[in-house]
Amino acid sequence: MWQTTIRDRIEIDGIGLHTGRKSRIMISPAPADTGIVFNFFNKNSLKVKVDSMIVSTNRGTILAHNGYFIYTVEHILSALNGLEIDNAEIILEGEEIPSCDGSAKFFVDKLKEVGIETLEKTRRVIQLQEPIWIFNGDKGIFALPSDKLSIYYIIEFPWIGRQWIFYEHSPTKYEQEVAPARTFGFEEEIETLVTEGLAKGGSLLNSIIVGKNGYSSPLRYPDEFVRHKLLDLMGDIYLLGRRINATIFVVKGGHNLHVELVKKIKEVIDGR
Ligand SMILES: [Zn+2]
Repeated sequence: MWQTTIRDRIEIDGIGLHTGRKSRIMISPAPADTGIVFNFFNKNSLKVKVDSMIVSTNRGTILAHNGYFIYTVEHILSALNGLEIDNAEIILEGEEIPSCDGSAKFFVDKLKEVGIETLEKTRRVIQLQEPIWIFNGDKGIFALPSDKLSIYYIIEFPWIGRQWIFYEHSPTKYEQEVAPARTFGFEEEIETLVTEGLAKGGSLLNSIIVGKNGYSSPLRYPDEFVRHKLLDLMGDIYLLGRRINATIFVVKGGHNLHVELVKKIKEVIDGR
């Protein structure tokens, strides 16, 4: 399989979900073997590869480099991973990726509008040689060697109940069944998030609010919540810097668990 990039530059404007500030990114084509690179436009256009940044999670996935931060990277990374785009430069004007409608649909539409270009260089996909897992109480994530990417995801929440999904990756499936699933939050948590200085840009336009009286908007799929968790995982595993083939099982996961898996996989492949 050949590596890919996008055919032309795209621009995306919006509001950051957590900072509540206006934010704008541009995504540019990049040559083979670049990977996904962030360009801090307001910091002398410093360029940093996604897999060499420090990762932390607090509701969303946050990247840091030398005191510079990028908030909420998971949905754009998910779109790039889902469409199998290996090389791209993300130019940041602010410090957060726009939240759009809380899903990856807008990113996917924009990326597909300019089109995907094949580069004449072989893609190097990560292949696991052994199972890797992390368990934490009743939560767990388990990755098995495979020659393709498939994911089983199970969630359980108050007011939502139990939802599970099995996904065998292909760009078409990603676009139709995963990308439109929106972020969600719980009524009772919103106050806490605001106190912690998060979710300032959160609104009914970019997330589903779940409470005892139901959902704040009609769902796009009956199991939209678990699909969004899958969307997040597709983004978080792209922090590896390359696509991965594996069968991944997740029980009650979240950014923390996803990122712990990424760190463990990195340790294993760096140690080979
Ligand atoms: Zn998300």
